[in-house]
Amino acid sequence: MKKKLLAGLFFIFCFSLSVFAQEKIDYQMMQRIRQEGMQNSKIAELMSYLCDVYAPRLAGSPQYRDAGKWVVNKLKEYGLENPKMEPWGTWGRGWELKKFYAAMTAPQYMPLIAYPKAWTGGLNGTIKGNAVLMDIKKEEDLAAFKGKIKGAIILSKGEQEVALGMEADGRRESDDDLKKMTLAADGSGRRNFTPELIAQMRAQRELQIKVTKFLKDEGAFVILEPSRGTDGTIFVQSGGEYKKGSIEAMPQIVVAAEQYNRLVRIAQKNIPVSLELELQSRFDDSDSLGYNIVAEIPGTDKKLKDEIVMLGGHFDTWHAGTGATDNSSGTAIAMEAVRILKTLGVKPRRTIRIALWDAEEEGLIGSREYVRNHFFDRDKKETKPEYDKLAAYFNYDNGSGKIRGIYTQGNFEVMPIFEQWLKPFNDLGASTVTLRNTGGTDHQSFDGVGLPGFQFIQDPLEY
Ligand SMILES: [Zn+2]
Repeated sequence: MKKKLLAGLFFIFCFSLSVFAQEKIDYQMMQRIRQEGMQNSKIAELMSYLCDVYAPRLAGSPQYRDAGKWVVNKLKEYGLENPKMEPWGTWGRGWELKKFYAAMTAPQYMPLIAYPKAWTGGLNGTIKGNAVLMDIKKEEDLAAFKGKIKGAIILSKGEQEVALGMEADGRRESDDDLKKMTLAADGSGRRNFTPELIAQMRAQRELQIKVTKFLKDEGAFVILEPSRGTDGTIFVQSGGEYKKGSIEAMPQIVVAAEQYNRLVRIAQKNIPVSLELELQSRFDDSDSLGYNIVAEIPGTDKKLKDEIVMLGGHFDTWHAGTGATDNSSGTAIAMEAVRILKTLGVKPRRTIRIALWDAEEEGLIGSREYVRNHFFDRDKKETKPEYDKLAAYFNYDNGSGKIRGIYTQGNFEVMPIFEQWLKPFNDLGASTVTLRNTGGTDHQSFDGVGLPGFQFIQDPLEY
């Protein structure tokens, strides 16, 4: 049910953008939209296609493009105008995992919960060897390993702390949490990046680069590292470069922290840890362009039809999961929203444009380049024709949690408007309008050039 709500909620925004101020909100239409969303939801089916069939969708990969074609067809089927995969510029290389297996074979057998990092190289056949523990704290520590790690399997860190799970994986924001959120001051507990912390992070990063270079120069085969997360859950991102012509990074494998720690503790007792690995990855240079997916429901008002209301979220995922939370959920919400509008034969005054972004995970690249191509080129300080036509962009990238309200990114003027729009959804738990900023996803590509880009407040459910 909560998923249906996500989709239903969008409409109030698109509708009311066209009716606020001059006209009353069309509550009758809103009721029909809500009914279609609640009683005839296609969210579960969309999610199954996006997560089970067309996943993962690493930026630049053949899987990303195949999934994009499926979405374009689906949007065509819904009756949207001009659905397409729109190139935003040059991406670089695709990458995909073809085969992977890792296990400890002595002193006991244990298959590993592990996954290679993206854009890293593979191994030649099955390799076997004893793990070498290299817990490097400073550059000088490397000397002890010189000439000793050729063909080695490296445990690159010491034991990783595994937090005791004292909190539920998911929770609903309480009235109190939401109330605090409406206060402008940031009480989010977000990390305060002091100059000391930044310096510390930078030093850590530099050491990491030196260690990686040392391992490569010395001819080590593969690097193992512990994942953050608990209960066998692993988080894997990139370990190499996706730019065309870049040097292939050596194999790097992320292992569930509990298992990784077991390897370390055995090695620390000077008992040999034997490992067996097989890893085939493939770089794909068949198409170096990056693509966003866009489609429209044209506006019908003579004066306003050139204005645009946008909705969307990123379509790319990391390679080690199915992207259910991040961000197939946001994709499904946006697709379901436009499906409902078309099903009900709605005639919006402004044009509604859905956009599903490429390469968010590598730094909001797809949306940023879209903004550059359509609205504003930051480098050239050049305004594009659509800049003045964009009414708002609404982004979804906070997982499957129920929508509880919206962040206004410090936009004071829009607060009463959003409050009015949310009123009919208060009974479903969506009522909070906060001045606060939220970051880390594609609405920032808009917000960053002065365009109204917004992201919703959602319950933090197992993100
Ligand atoms: Zn995301």
